[in-house]
Amino acid sequence: MINVCDIQVMKPLLAEHGFHFSKAKGQNFLIAPWVPQSIAEDSGVDETVGVLEIGPGIGPLTQQLALRAKKVCAVELDTRLAPILQKTVGEFDNLEILWGDVLDQDIPGLVREKFEGLRPMACANLPYYITSPILSALLEADCFEAVTVMVQKEVAQRIAAAPGSPDYSAFTVFCQYYAEPELLFDVPAHCFLPQPKVTSAVITLRVRKERTWDILDEKIFFRTVKASFAMRRKKLSNGLAAGFPELGKTGAAEVIEKAGFDANIRGETLSIPDFARIANEIARMRGQR
Ligand code: SAM
Repeated sequence: MINVCDIQVMKPLLAEHGFHFSKAKGQNFLIAPWVPQSIAEDSGVDETVGVLEIGPGIGPLTQQLALRAKKVCAVELDTRLAPILQKTVGEFDNLEILWGDVLDQDIPGLVREKFEGLRPMACANLPYYITSPILSALLEADCFEAVTVMVQKEVAQRIAAAPGSPDYSAFTVFCQYYAEPELLFDVPAHCFLPQPKVTSAVITLRVRKERTWDILDEKIFFRTVKASFAMRRKKLSNGLAAGFPELGKTGAAEVIEKAGFDANIRGETLSIPDFARIANEIARMRGQR
């Protein structure tokens, strides 16, 4: 197996194919072998698993996943990588590469078709310019056991943040609604070529088998979350009144009271069950109108 993380191997390989990194496609390739090994190891991928990889690049993580999983499907946007991947991962008969934009894929359909009878997981060193849309698509697909990704460290911290902390955001609530996050390890910029300007981190999101909170209307729940974070450091009633103009200030205050919270409560301190209580009051109030 070609050690694609060895810079002495990688540079001539890229030169041979006239490959130049595309900043627009978020191409920062791993040059530290311990990183793809640790990601694959910590992802929990084994011979019972079908794993979707996003952005194989020249294949360092793909190799490690193909060594462990029953099946790997890797979606790559940049077709210039085809002849290189043929050399670096062509030997794996449990690997299929799909060419295209991951955001154009029917992910649940792909998982059903490719991973029948297997435990589906997703694993990737993500292109950072579309971290949130990809993570949202993977979680909303609601078909993976776990999603293990390398992202910018600050994004990983935001995903794993606790209520009331400065990193806690609407994206935190969205991710934690679907999954339980665990920060795994940091990856310094010198582990990539070219070096990104930021530190990276690997995070696992274990998708919840059950969501234990009662939510009457998922759309209203996510609208409530968005409205609650739109006006940080202001009273929740202001955010709710702006996000649900039909409630008005009085209706927003009434919702907060009925849900059992203090009138001065701030949105960024609320947990998922708290948001659920508020969203359910809004749903009930709208139902009565
Ligand atoms: N996995 C390789 C590694 O760790 O060295 C490459 C990771 S690099 C950060 C991101 C990869 O995602 C690149 O290969 C890039 O071409 C690919 N990519 C970018 N946008 C994509 C998209 N929308 N769909 C699929 N792949 C994409």
